[in-house]
Amino acid sequence: MHRHCGVCGESLVKVWVNSASGTIIVAESKRGGPFTNRKSSAVDAYLCPKCGRVELFAQNPKVFMDANHHDGQA
Ligand SMILES: [Zn+2]
Repeated sequence: MHRHCGVCGESLVKVWVNSASGTIIVAESKRGGPFTNRKSSAVDAYLCPKCGRVELFAQNPKVFMDANHHDGQA
């Protein structure tokens, strides 16, 4: 997928995040186990070669779609 810099519009170059897991996690406010209710996705990183901006995109963003709707709801 082709992406462009949100600042200057330059075409972004795909890069890789050097981390242990290569994933991002959304922490849920539910009082269950420490990890059972968390959602995660692998991440694609894109670098703007013009201004240096790095943008991150979840590879599976749909798992986060209800992340903002957990207040007082099941
Ligand atoms: Zn840029």
